[in-house]
Amino acid sequence: MRSDPEIWKEFFETYYQDEVNRLALRIRDNGSGDKSLFINFTDISIFRHEIAEELLEYPAEVLAHAEKGLEITDNSQGIDLSGAHPRIINLPIPRKIDIRNLRSGHIGKLIAVEGIVRKITEVRPKIILGAFRCPEGHINYVEQNGGKLREPHECIECRRKGPFYLIPEKSITADSQRVKIQEYPENLKGGEQPQTLDVILHDDLTGVINPGDRVIINGILMANVRKVSHQKTPVMDIILEGNSIEILEQEYEELEITKEDEEAILSLKEDPHIFDKIVRSISPSIYGYEEVKKSIALQLFSGLPKVLPDGTRIRGDIHVLLVGDPGVAKSQLLRYVHRIAPRGVYTTGKGTTYAGLTATAVKDEFDGRWTLEAGALVMADKGIALIDEIDKMRTDDVGALHEVMEQQTVSVAKAGINAILKARCAILAAANPKYGRFDKYVPIGDQINLSPSLLSRFDLIFTLTDDPDEYRDRDIATHILNSHYVGEILQKMNSLVTTEYSQDYVDSRSRPIMPEIDPELLRKYIAYAKRMVFPVLSEEAKERIIEFYVSMRNSVKDAKSAIPITARQLEALVRLAEASARVRLSDIITIEDAENVIQIVRKCLSQIALDPETQQIDIDILAVGTPKSQRDRIITIKGIIRELDQELSIELGKSYRGVPEEEIFRRAEDHGVPRERTREILSRLNKDGEVYTPHPGHYRPIER
Ligand code: ADP
Ligand code: MG
Repeated sequence: MRSDPEIWKEFFETYYQDEVNRLALRIRDNGSGDKSLFINFTDISIFRHEIAEELLEYPAEVLAHAEKGLEITDNSQGIDLSGAHPRIINLPIPRKIDIRNLRSGHIGKLIAVEGIVRKITEVRPKIILGAFRCPEGHINYVEQNGGKLREPHECIECRRKGPFYLIPEKSITADSQRVKIQEYPENLKGGEQPQTLDVILHDDLTGVINPGDRVIINGILMANVRKVSHQKTPVMDIILEGNSIEILEQEYEELEITKEDEEAILSLKEDPHIFDKIVRSISPSIYGYEEVKKSIALQLFSGLPKVLPDGTRIRGDIHVLLVGDPGVAKSQLLRYVHRIAPRGVYTTGKGTTYAGLTATAVKDEFDGRWTLEAGALVMADKGIALIDEIDKMRTDDVGALHEVMEQQTVSVAKAGINAILKARCAILAAANPKYGRFDKYVPIGDQINLSPSLLSRFDLIFTLTDDPDEYRDRDIATHILNSHYVGEILQKMNSLVTTEYSQDYVDSRSRPIMPEIDPELLRKYIAYAKRMVFPVLSEEAKERIIEFYVSMRNSVKDAKSAIPITARQLEALVRLAEASARVRLSDIITIEDAENVIQIVRKCLSQIALDPETQQIDIDILAVGTPKSQRDRIITIKGIIRELDQELSIELGKSYRGVPEEEIFRRAEDHGVPRERTREILSRLNKDGEVYTPHPGHYRPIER
């Protein structure tokens, strides 16, 4: 071996004298604390190529040489540098290993592993060199590096075999922390489970990183024998002993955009129908839901996060909620968005990980330390979190979600752990109605297990109902069957049992269900827009949005009436308009952007906040969920029809042909509903598919 402390001394004096002096100054001023000397791997290569090679192959020995070498390097302060750590950064590319590609050949080698921090334990002192007293009073020192405390075999002086007592004040301890890093969610192919790696950190590397951070950890891969119920097995568990941490820039974007990509992006932007094209590229195998897909498109591009001159932080992320009947493709939509969104994390309200949606402090099963584990929303920082069945969320998560949706942070204060984690993500959530099916006459708030205050944090909410409608049903069925048909042909062709279908034929049948923009390019287009485009409101757009806002607020003249739109919706409009401009990679938010998003917001409000009887938009229906008298009337009429239907069908038997209008009017009047109102309600119920007329002037309920 070429490496020895003298060579390292030479290296430090030639290449790092200034840094060594600064380190000495820091140690003199702060005592303990930061004791790291960061060394660029390239510098070692330039100094002596063989030393660099030895460092990669035999890192434990070579790093010990480097540490000794640093100790004996002169410094301007003339202080003792023992205990300072040389930390190697910027390892060569071939040493950057993906977590899932770690193999036995990497054990004992210096490697770099990149990932997102999923879990951290408390920082606790750990014994490095244990001092033990034998029964005769002799002191023995034993180096500690495993998971269990190692005692002396026998006393070096008197040869007694024990018992030995640990003397903490004579032992050497250092802070230690265990962390778990995980592969980037965006690099996983649909449905793949992320793989993780445990890392052990010592001394001034502890307490530096938080869950959700994206890091490169350089270190030595160690292996421990795996134990199954206290029995040793021949299987090894691996753990990385960290030598240095490189925290990746917050603005770091992992999606690489080449010159060619950029050309493709800029030519795509020229398309006058770019927005529609993108909308059609979102989940093309799902029929309809144009407004929903438009909203998702805007959500992918996102508004701009900003800090107002008074220091108020305003999120740019757009939150969207889909509420609806079972089987209307909500989950399917979420899964598709997961595939195309850069940094998408998919989870269900029930919480697939231990930490659930947000973050929790738990006792570690390995060494009993308190551990902070990031949940889906922290892992989705700077991306999009897809939460299916959000209504089934644990109560712990509900409170945290409020914080995430406005402040975009998760605070954890439990046991020894106090942390504020970043969760700057957009949320696309789906919820099923409490009672199985969605009832458009009952406020959303009453039908899903989400509080009005949480609901009001969504910029857009859509209801997806599964109403029978012959034309639409036929279209959906045709669309679904065509998707399946193409799938069948592709399956057949892949298994090579037939050549009867030409590629042209398959292409032509696939067209309606193929995304217009290739998902790979779309991801890059979105990443490019978010990185490069920061649009500003034009005067016209500003005026148009104000005009819309004021007109909506004035639309209900009656002073007692609810306010149709609140400042929350106004902020939503601005975010959406910013996203709309970003879709065109435009620096200016035009009046067309304003119109575009006003149309979407109007559609959303008409679904969730439209008083079914007055046809007026009433945001209180969403925000407060108060039952309105009109809605009560509709429910009354529905009840009357159901009652009469039962009574009359028994009474009349075979000759029964529905409840006569007159009977309904009469009974409704008994409940204080005037005839004219009842007539309106009947026609509405008929149109909405709640009742049908088996015979003119006769009604029967549609039971679902
Ligand atoms: P949900 O989560 O709303 O209960 P799913 O996403 O599980 O529903 O959808 C059920 C199935 O019905 C899926 O296979 C989906 O593709 C299909 N489906 C429902 N509505 C549509 C639609 N409009 N277009 C295409 N497929 C649909
Ligand atoms: Mg579902």
